[in-house]
Amino acid sequence: MVAKGDMLYAWTPDSGLLEKAECGGAVTALLKYALENKIVDAVLAIRKGADLYDAVPTIITDPEEIGGSAGSLHCGTLLVSKLITKYLDGAKKQKLGITVKGCDVMGIIELAKRDQINLDNLVLIGVNCGGTVSPVLARKMIAARYGVDPADIVKEEIDKGQFIIVTKDGQHKGISIDELEEEGYGRRSNCRRCLYKIPRQADLACGNWGVIGEKAGKATFVEVCSDKGAKLVDGAVKAGALETSAADPKGLAIRAKVEGAMLKLGEKWRKHDFHALSENLWDILRDETSRCIKCYSCIDNCPVCQPISIELTSGTTMVPIGQLPPKPMFHLRRFAHISDSCVNCGQCEELCPMEIPLALFSHAIRVEADATYIPKFGEAPYKN
Ligand code: FAD
Ligand code: SF4
Ligand code: SF4
Repeated sequence: MVAKGDMLYAWTPDSGLLEKAECGGAVTALLKYALENKIVDAVLAIRKGADLYDAVPTIITDPEEIGGSAGSLHCGTLLVSKLITKYLDGAKKQKLGITVKGCDVMGIIELAKRDQINLDNLVLIGVNCGGTVSPVLARKMIAARYGVDPADIVKEEIDKGQFIIVTKDGQHKGISIDELEEEGYGRRSNCRRCLYKIPRQADLACGNWGVIGEKAGKATFVEVCSDKGAKLVDGAVKAGALETSAADPKGLAIRAKVEGAMLKLGEKWRKHDFHALSENLWDILRDETSRCIKCYSCIDNCPVCQPISIELTSGTTMVPIGQLPPKPMFHLRRFAHISDSCVNCGQCEELCPMEIPLALFSHAIRVEADATYIPKFGEAPYKN
Protein backbone atom coordinates (compact mmCIF):
# COMPACT_ATOMS: atom_id res chain seq x y z
CA MET A 1 0.00 0.00 0.00
CA VAL A 2 1.45 3.38 -1.03
CA ALA A 3 1.32 6.11 1.62
CA LYS A 4 1.99 9.83 1.94
CA GLY A 5 5.73 10.32 2.58
CA ASP A 6 6.84 7.32 0.49
CA MET A 7 9.89 7.76 -1.75
CA LEU A 8 9.74 5.54 -4.81
CA TYR A 9 11.35 4.73 -8.09
CA ALA A 10 8.55 4.37 -10.64
CA TRP A 11 8.37 3.49 -14.33
CA THR A 12 5.82 2.64 -16.96
CA PRO A 13 5.68 -0.94 -18.30
CA ASP A 14 4.52 0.54 -21.64
CA SER A 15 7.66 0.55 -23.84
CA GLY A 16 6.13 3.04 -26.32
CA LEU A 17 5.51 5.56 -23.53
CA LEU A 18 8.87 4.92 -21.93
CA GLU A 19 10.65 5.80 -25.17
CA LYS A 20 8.96 9.21 -25.36
CA ALA A 21 9.26 9.98 -21.63
CA GLU A 22 11.96 12.04 -19.95
CA CYS A 23 12.87 9.39 -17.33
CA GLY A 24 10.65 6.47 -16.32
CA GLY A 25 7.45 7.92 -17.79
CA ALA A 26 5.69 7.78 -14.41
CA VAL A 27 4.08 11.19 -14.91
CA THR A 28 2.54 10.29 -18.26
CA ALA A 29 1.55 6.79 -17.09
CA LEU A 30 -0.25 8.23 -14.05
CA LEU A 31 -2.09 10.84 -16.13
CA LYS A 32 -3.12 8.14 -18.61
CA TYR A 33 -4.33 5.88 -15.80
CA ALA A 34 -6.28 8.79 -14.24
CA LEU A 35 -8.02 9.55 -17.56
CA GLU A 36 -8.77 5.92 -18.38
CA ASN A 37 -10.33 5.36 -14.97
CA LYS A 38 -12.29 8.64 -14.94
CA ILE A 39 -10.40 9.89 -11.90
CA VAL A 40 -10.06 13.06 -13.99
CA ASP A 41 -12.17 14.36 -16.88
CA ALA A 42 -9.23 15.98 -18.66
CA VAL A 43 -5.48 16.43 -18.43
CA LEU A 44 -3.69 19.77 -18.73
CA ALA A 45 -0.08 19.16 -19.75
CA ILE A 46 2.65 20.72 -21.87
CA ARG A 47 3.67 19.40 -25.28
CA LYS A 48 6.17 20.37 -27.92
CA GLY A 49 4.76 22.71 -30.61
CA ALA A 50 6.61 23.77 -33.77
CA ASP A 51 9.98 22.97 -32.19
CA LEU A 52 11.51 22.42 -28.76
CA TYR A 53 11.52 26.17 -28.01
CA ASP A 54 7.74 26.14 -28.38
CA ALA A 55 6.05 24.70 -25.27
CA VAL A 56 2.30 24.51 -25.76
CA PRO A 57 -0.29 23.93 -23.05
CA THR A 58 -2.64 21.18 -24.13
CA ILE A 59 -5.93 19.71 -22.93
CA ILE A 60 -6.21 15.96 -23.41
CA THR A 61 -9.35 13.89 -22.93
CA ASP A 62 -8.41 10.82 -24.99
CA PRO A 63 -5.97 8.59 -23.03
CA GLU A 64 -4.42 7.43 -26.31
CA GLU A 65 -3.18 10.99 -26.96
CA ILE A 66 -1.38 11.43 -23.66
CA GLY A 67 1.93 10.11 -25.02
CA GLY A 68 2.27 13.29 -27.09
CA SER A 69 2.88 15.30 -23.92
CA ALA A 70 5.72 13.14 -22.54
CA GLY A 71 9.21 14.64 -22.11
CA SER A 72 10.59 17.80 -20.45
CA LEU A 73 10.82 21.14 -22.25
CA HIS A 74 13.36 23.31 -20.44
CA CYS A 75 12.46 26.28 -22.64
CA GLY A 76 8.84 25.92 -21.48
CA THR A 77 8.55 29.08 -19.38
CA LEU A 78 4.77 29.17 -19.28
CA LEU A 79 2.59 29.06 -16.15
CA VAL A 80 -0.57 26.94 -16.13
CA SER A 81 -2.39 28.47 -13.15
CA LYS A 82 -4.24 31.26 -14.91
CA LEU A 83 -5.13 28.99 -17.84
CA ILE A 84 -7.29 27.04 -15.39
CA THR A 85 -9.31 30.14 -14.51
CA LYS A 86 -9.36 31.61 -18.04
CA TYR A 87 -10.26 28.50 -20.02
CA LEU A 88 -11.26 25.72 -17.62
CA ASP A 89 -13.69 27.49 -15.32
CA GLY A 90 -11.32 27.20 -12.37
CA ALA A 91 -11.98 23.41 -12.33
CA LYS A 92 -15.30 24.19 -10.68
CA LYS A 93 -17.24 21.72 -12.84
CA GLN A 94 -14.63 19.21 -13.97
CA LYS A 95 -11.78 17.20 -12.50
CA LEU A 96 -8.36 17.92 -13.97
CA GLY A 97 -5.01 16.13 -13.84
CA ILE A 98 -2.25 18.72 -14.28
CA THR A 99 1.54 18.57 -14.61
CA VAL A 100 2.99 21.39 -12.53
CA LYS A 101 6.33 22.97 -11.69
CA GLY A 102 6.80 24.64 -8.30
CA CYS A 103 5.67 28.06 -9.57
CA ASP A 104 2.58 26.49 -11.21
CA VAL A 105 1.54 24.99 -7.86
CA MET A 106 2.11 28.27 -6.01
CA GLY A 107 0.08 30.17 -8.64
CA ILE A 108 -2.74 27.61 -8.37
CA ILE A 109 -2.79 27.93 -4.58
CA GLU A 110 -2.90 31.74 -4.77
CA LEU A 111 -5.88 31.52 -7.12
CA ALA A 112 -7.58 28.94 -4.88
CA LYS A 113 -7.18 31.35 -1.92
CA ARG A 114 -9.04 33.92 -4.03
CA ASP A 115 -11.80 31.38 -4.73
CA GLN A 116 -10.88 31.21 -8.44
CA ILE A 117 -9.89 27.52 -8.49
CA ASN A 118 -11.38 24.46 -6.81
CA LEU A 119 -8.40 22.50 -5.46
CA ASP A 120 -10.61 19.50 -4.63
CA ASN A 121 -11.07 18.88 -8.36
CA LEU A 122 -7.35 18.87 -9.15
CA VAL A 123 -4.79 16.07 -9.19
CA LEU A 124 -1.44 17.87 -9.25
CA ILE A 125 1.51 15.87 -10.56
CA GLY A 126 4.56 17.95 -9.75
CA VAL A 127 7.85 17.88 -11.62
CA ASN A 128 11.01 18.99 -9.83
CA CYS A 129 12.39 22.05 -11.51
CA GLY A 130 15.96 23.33 -11.60
CA GLY A 131 14.86 26.18 -13.86
CA THR A 132 13.70 27.15 -17.33
CA VAL A 133 15.46 29.04 -20.10
CA SER A 134 13.69 31.76 -22.05
CA PRO A 135 13.16 30.44 -25.62
CA VAL A 136 14.44 33.68 -27.16
CA LEU A 137 17.62 33.68 -25.08
CA ALA A 138 18.06 29.92 -25.62
CA ARG A 139 18.24 30.43 -29.39
CA LYS A 140 20.78 33.24 -28.99
CA MET A 141 22.81 31.18 -26.50
CA ILE A 142 22.90 28.08 -28.73
CA ALA A 143 24.07 30.10 -31.73
CA ALA A 144 26.64 32.17 -29.79
CA ARG A 145 28.02 29.71 -27.23
CA TYR A 146 27.50 26.31 -28.85
CA GLY A 147 28.19 27.49 -32.41
CA VAL A 148 25.15 25.54 -33.62
CA ASP A 149 22.07 26.66 -35.59
CA PRO A 150 19.24 26.58 -33.00
CA ALA A 151 16.98 24.99 -35.63
CA ASP A 152 19.31 21.95 -35.73
CA ILE A 153 18.66 20.94 -32.12
CA VAL A 154 16.50 17.86 -31.59
CA LYS A 155 16.84 17.58 -27.80
CA GLU A 156 17.97 19.70 -24.89
CA GLU A 157 18.45 18.61 -21.30
CA ILE A 158 19.84 19.86 -18.03
CA ASP A 159 22.05 17.27 -16.36
CA LYS A 160 24.80 17.43 -13.72
CA GLY A 161 24.93 21.22 -13.83
CA GLN A 162 25.21 21.41 -17.63
CA PHE A 163 22.82 22.59 -20.35
CA ILE A 164 23.21 19.88 -22.97
CA ILE A 165 22.10 19.99 -26.59
CA VAL A 166 21.75 17.15 -29.07
CA THR A 167 21.90 18.02 -32.76
CA LYS A 168 20.16 16.39 -35.75
CA ASP A 169 23.33 14.41 -36.54
CA GLY A 170 23.55 13.04 -32.98
CA GLN A 171 26.28 15.37 -31.60
CA HIS A 172 26.09 16.09 -27.84
CA LYS A 173 27.47 19.33 -26.45
CA GLY A 174 27.22 20.46 -22.83
CA ILE A 175 28.30 23.72 -21.15
CA SER A 176 28.20 24.39 -17.42
CA ILE A 177 25.15 26.42 -16.41
CA ASP A 178 27.27 28.49 -13.99
CA GLU A 179 29.52 29.51 -16.88
CA LEU A 180 26.55 30.35 -19.12
CA GLU A 181 24.90 32.39 -16.36
CA GLU A 182 28.02 34.39 -15.67
CA GLU A 183 27.84 35.45 -19.32
CA GLY A 184 24.15 36.45 -19.06
CA TYR A 185 22.72 33.24 -20.59
CA GLY A 186 21.20 30.22 -18.85
CA ARG A 187 18.11 30.12 -16.67
CA ARG A 188 15.67 33.02 -16.28
CA SER A 189 16.65 35.30 -13.42
CA ASN A 190 13.55 34.39 -11.36
CA CYS A 191 14.47 30.69 -11.74
CA ARG A 192 17.97 31.38 -10.43
CA ARG A 193 16.41 32.91 -7.30
CA CYS A 194 13.73 30.20 -6.93
CA LEU A 195 13.88 28.10 -3.76
CA TYR A 196 11.06 25.75 -4.68
CA LYS A 197 12.79 22.99 -6.61
CA ILE A 198 10.74 20.02 -5.35
CA PRO A 199 7.02 20.87 -5.54
CA ARG A 200 5.84 19.28 -2.29
CA GLN A 201 2.53 21.16 -2.30
CA ALA A 202 1.51 19.05 -5.31
CA ASP A 203 0.11 15.53 -4.79
CA LEU A 204 3.31 13.97 -6.14
CA ALA A 205 6.77 15.40 -6.75
CA CYS A 206 8.51 13.63 -9.66
CA GLY A 207 12.06 14.06 -10.84
CA ASN A 208 15.33 12.49 -11.84
CA TRP A 209 17.46 13.50 -8.85
CA GLY A 210 18.27 10.46 -6.70
CA VAL A 211 17.69 7.72 -9.28
CA ILE A 212 20.92 5.72 -9.22
CA GLY A 213 22.23 2.26 -10.07
CA GLU A 214 20.61 0.21 -12.80
CA LYS A 215 17.49 2.39 -12.72
CA ALA A 216 19.41 5.61 -13.49
CA GLY A 217 17.73 7.31 -16.46
CA LYS A 218 15.06 4.58 -16.61
CA ALA A 219 12.88 5.44 -13.59
CA THR A 220 11.20 8.53 -12.20
CA PHE A 221 11.85 9.46 -8.57
CA VAL A 222 8.43 9.96 -6.97
CA GLU A 223 7.92 11.63 -3.58
CA VAL A 224 4.35 11.00 -2.43
CA CYS A 225 3.15 14.31 -0.97
CA SER A 226 -0.54 13.74 -0.21
CA ASP A 227 -3.12 11.03 0.42
CA LYS A 228 -4.60 11.85 -3.00
CA GLY A 229 -1.19 11.23 -4.59
CA ALA A 230 -0.78 7.97 -2.64
CA LYS A 231 -4.18 6.72 -3.80
CA LEU A 232 -3.37 7.53 -7.43
CA VAL A 233 -0.02 5.69 -7.38
CA ASP A 234 -1.51 2.76 -5.47
CA GLY A 235 -4.37 2.40 -7.97
CA ALA A 236 -2.01 2.66 -10.96
CA VAL A 237 0.30 -0.03 -9.53
CA LYS A 238 -2.61 -2.37 -8.79
CA ALA A 239 -3.97 -1.86 -12.32
CA GLY A 240 -0.56 -2.69 -13.84
CA ALA A 241 -0.17 0.84 -15.26
CA LEU A 242 2.94 1.59 -13.18
CA GLU A 243 5.78 -0.37 -11.59
CA THR A 244 7.63 0.79 -8.51
CA SER A 245 10.39 -0.09 -6.08
CA ALA A 246 11.55 1.61 -2.89
CA ALA A 247 14.10 4.36 -3.58
CA ASP A 248 17.75 3.41 -2.93
CA PRO A 249 18.80 5.01 0.42
CA LYS A 250 22.00 6.28 -1.24
CA GLY A 251 19.84 7.85 -3.95
CA LEU A 252 17.75 9.54 -1.27
CA ALA A 253 20.87 11.06 0.27
CA ILE A 254 22.11 12.25 -3.13
CA ARG A 255 18.73 13.84 -3.89
CA ALA A 256 18.76 15.69 -0.56
CA LYS A 257 22.30 16.90 -1.21
CA VAL A 258 21.48 18.19 -4.71
CA GLU A 259 18.38 19.94 -3.44
CA GLY A 260 20.45 21.59 -0.68
CA ALA A 261 23.05 22.75 -3.22
CA MET A 262 20.33 24.21 -5.46
CA LEU A 263 18.80 26.10 -2.53
CA LYS A 264 22.20 27.55 -1.62
CA LEU A 265 22.67 28.65 -5.21
CA GLY A 266 19.21 30.27 -5.14
CA GLU A 267 20.16 32.18 -1.97
CA LYS A 268 23.38 33.31 -3.65
CA TRP A 269 21.43 34.69 -6.62
CA ARG A 270 18.96 36.44 -4.29
CA LYS A 271 21.82 38.18 -2.51
CA HIS A 272 23.42 39.12 -5.82
CA ASP A 273 20.25 40.47 -7.46
CA PHE A 274 18.74 42.19 -4.41
CA HIS A 275 22.01 43.78 -3.35
CA ALA A 276 22.47 45.40 -6.78
CA LEU A 277 18.90 46.72 -6.52
CA SER A 278 19.12 47.99 -2.95
CA GLU A 279 22.04 50.29 -3.75
CA ASN A 280 19.80 52.63 -5.74
CA LEU A 281 16.26 51.25 -5.54
CA TRP A 282 14.14 54.30 -6.40
CA ASP A 283 16.25 55.49 -9.33
CA ILE A 284 16.41 51.98 -10.81
CA LEU A 285 12.66 51.53 -10.39
CA ARG A 286 11.87 54.89 -12.01
CA ASP A 287 14.31 54.44 -14.89
CA GLU A 288 13.32 50.86 -15.74
CA THR A 289 9.56 51.37 -15.52
CA SER A 290 9.66 54.65 -17.46
CA ARG A 291 9.56 52.73 -20.76
CA CYS A 292 6.28 50.95 -19.86
CA ILE A 293 3.68 51.20 -22.65
CA LYS A 294 0.75 50.13 -20.38
CA CYS A 295 -0.14 47.01 -22.35
CA TYR A 296 -1.11 45.35 -19.03
CA SER A 297 0.41 42.03 -20.04
CA CYS A 298 2.09 41.88 -16.61
CA ILE A 299 -1.29 42.11 -14.92
CA ASP A 300 -3.05 39.71 -17.28
CA ASN A 301 -0.44 37.03 -16.79
CA CYS A 302 0.15 37.39 -13.07
CA PRO A 303 -1.45 34.58 -11.02
CA VAL A 304 -1.95 37.02 -8.15
CA CYS A 305 -3.26 40.08 -10.04
CA GLN A 306 -6.61 38.69 -11.16
CA PRO A 307 -8.89 41.10 -9.25
CA ILE A 308 -7.03 44.16 -10.50
CA SER A 309 -7.33 43.10 -14.11
CA ILE A 310 -11.10 42.73 -13.73
CA GLU A 311 -11.31 46.20 -12.25
CA LEU A 312 -9.05 47.52 -14.96
CA THR A 313 -11.15 46.32 -17.89
CA SER A 314 -14.27 47.82 -16.38
CA GLY A 315 -12.30 51.05 -16.15
CA THR A 316 -13.38 51.87 -12.63
CA THR A 317 -10.23 51.70 -10.64
CA MET A 318 -6.77 53.11 -10.15
CA VAL A 319 -5.69 52.91 -13.80
CA PRO A 320 -8.74 53.99 -15.82
CA ILE A 321 -8.79 52.93 -19.48
CA GLY A 322 -7.46 55.69 -21.71
CA GLN A 323 -5.54 57.46 -18.95
CA LEU A 324 -1.93 56.95 -18.05
CA PRO A 325 -1.12 57.28 -14.37
CA PRO A 326 1.91 59.37 -13.50
CA LYS A 327 5.19 57.47 -13.65
CA PRO A 328 6.00 55.30 -11.78
CA MET A 329 2.72 55.14 -9.83
CA PHE A 330 1.13 52.35 -11.87
CA HIS A 331 4.02 50.07 -11.00
CA LEU A 332 4.32 51.11 -7.38
CA ARG A 333 0.62 50.40 -6.91
CA ARG A 334 0.92 47.04 -8.60
CA PHE A 335 3.94 46.08 -6.49
CA ALA A 336 2.09 47.11 -3.33
CA HIS A 337 -0.92 45.07 -4.44
CA ILE A 338 1.08 41.86 -4.87
CA SER A 339 3.73 42.47 -2.21
CA ASP A 340 2.43 39.76 0.13
CA SER A 341 1.74 37.19 -2.60
CA CYS A 342 4.26 37.39 -5.46
CA VAL A 343 5.32 33.78 -6.16
CA ASN A 344 8.33 34.74 -8.32
CA CYS A 345 6.94 32.86 -11.33
CA GLY A 346 8.55 35.44 -13.64
CA GLN A 347 5.59 35.74 -16.05
CA CYS A 348 5.42 39.55 -15.76
CA GLU A 349 9.06 39.90 -16.76
CA GLU A 350 9.06 37.12 -19.36
CA LEU A 351 6.06 38.56 -21.20
CA CYS A 352 6.80 42.30 -20.89
CA PRO A 353 7.35 43.69 -24.41
CA MET A 354 9.58 46.43 -22.95
CA GLU A 355 11.85 43.97 -21.10
CA ILE A 356 11.36 45.62 -17.72
CA PRO A 357 12.77 43.44 -14.88
CA LEU A 358 9.42 43.35 -13.10
CA ALA A 359 9.86 40.00 -11.35
CA LEU A 360 13.06 41.25 -9.76
CA PHE A 361 11.23 44.23 -8.24
CA SER A 362 8.18 42.36 -6.98
CA HIS A 363 10.22 39.42 -5.70
CA ALA A 364 12.61 41.73 -3.83
CA ILE A 365 9.66 43.50 -2.20
CA ARG A 366 8.02 40.18 -1.24
CA VAL A 367 11.21 38.77 0.28
CA GLU A 368 11.91 42.00 2.17
CA ALA A 369 8.33 42.14 3.48
CA ASP A 370 8.47 38.50 4.61
CA ALA A 371 11.79 39.11 6.39
CA THR A 372 10.35 42.16 8.14
CA TYR A 373 6.88 41.02 9.12
CA ILE A 374 6.95 37.24 9.45
CA PRO A 375 8.45 36.40 12.85
CA LYS A 376 11.15 33.76 12.94
CA PHE A 377 10.66 30.82 15.30
CA GLY A 378 10.93 32.03 18.89
CA GLU A 379 10.67 35.74 18.01
CA ALA A 380 7.82 38.04 19.05
CA PRO A 381 5.38 38.82 16.20
CA TYR A 382 5.76 42.23 14.49
CA LYS A 383 3.68 45.01 16.04
CA ASN A 384 3.24 48.46 14.56
P1 FAD B 1 7.17 12.30 -18.52
O1 FAD B 1 6.33 11.03 -18.41
O2 FAD B 1 8.11 12.39 -19.64
O3 FAD B 1 6.23 13.52 -18.38
C1 FAD B 1 6.75 14.81 -18.40
C2 FAD B 1 5.65 15.77 -18.05
O4 FAD B 1 6.25 17.06 -17.91
C3 FAD B 1 4.59 15.87 -19.12
O5 FAD B 1 3.33 15.80 -18.50
C4 FAD B 1 4.81 17.27 -19.71
O6 FAD B 1 3.61 17.85 -20.11
C5 FAD B 1 5.42 18.02 -18.56
N1 FAD B 1 6.27 19.15 -18.97
C6 FAD B 1 7.19 19.20 -19.95
N2 FAD B 1 7.77 20.40 -20.00
C7 FAD B 1 7.16 21.14 -19.04
C8 FAD B 1 7.30 22.49 -18.61
N3 FAD B 1 8.20 23.29 -19.15
N4 FAD B 1 6.51 22.92 -17.58
C9 FAD B 1 5.60 22.10 -17.00
N5 FAD B 1 5.45 20.80 -17.36
C10 FAD B 1 6.22 20.34 -18.36
N6 FAD B 1 13.89 16.86 -12.20
C11 FAD B 1 14.88 16.85 -11.31
O7 FAD B 1 14.99 15.90 -10.53
N7 FAD B 1 15.75 17.90 -11.22
C12 FAD B 1 15.65 19.01 -12.03
O8 FAD B 1 16.45 19.94 -11.93
C13 FAD B 1 14.58 19.06 -12.96
N8 FAD B 1 14.39 20.15 -13.75
C14 FAD B 1 13.31 20.20 -14.58
C15 FAD B 1 13.06 21.37 -15.31
C16 FAD B 1 11.94 21.45 -16.14
C17 FAD B 1 11.67 22.71 -16.88
C18 FAD B 1 11.07 20.33 -16.26
C19 FAD B 1 9.85 20.41 -17.15
C20 FAD B 1 11.32 19.17 -15.54
C21 FAD B 1 12.43 19.10 -14.70
N9 FAD B 1 12.67 17.97 -13.91
C22 FAD B 1 13.71 17.94 -13.02
C23 FAD B 1 11.76 16.82 -13.97
C24 FAD B 1 12.19 15.74 -14.96
O9 FAD B 1 12.74 16.30 -16.13
C25 FAD B 1 10.99 14.88 -15.36
O10 FAD B 1 9.92 15.69 -15.81
C26 FAD B 1 10.47 14.06 -14.21
O11 FAD B 1 11.50 13.25 -13.72
C27 FAD B 1 9.33 13.15 -14.66
O12 FAD B 1 9.85 12.22 -15.56
P2 FAD B 1 8.85 11.29 -16.34
O13 FAD B 1 9.60 10.44 -17.30
O14 FAD B 1 7.97 10.60 -15.36
O15 FAD B 1 8.01 12.39 -17.15
FE1 SF4 C 1 11.09 26.17 -12.06
FE2 SF4 C 1 11.14 27.85 -9.94
FE3 SF4 C 1 11.65 28.73 -12.45
FE4 SF4 C 1 9.17 27.98 -11.76
S1 SF4 C 1 10.33 29.74 -10.91
S2 SF4 C 1 10.21 27.49 -13.69
S3 SF4 C 1 9.62 26.27 -10.36
S4 SF4 C 1 12.88 27.26 -11.22
FE1 SF4 D 1 4.21 47.97 -18.84
FE2 SF4 D 1 5.62 45.75 -19.41
FE3 SF4 D 1 3.48 45.64 -17.72
FE4 SF4 D 1 3.13 46.05 -20.39
S1 SF4 D 1 3.98 44.18 -19.39
S2 SF4 D 1 2.12 47.15 -18.68
S3 SF4 D 1 4.93 47.33 -20.86
S4 SF4 D 1 5.44 46.74 -17.41
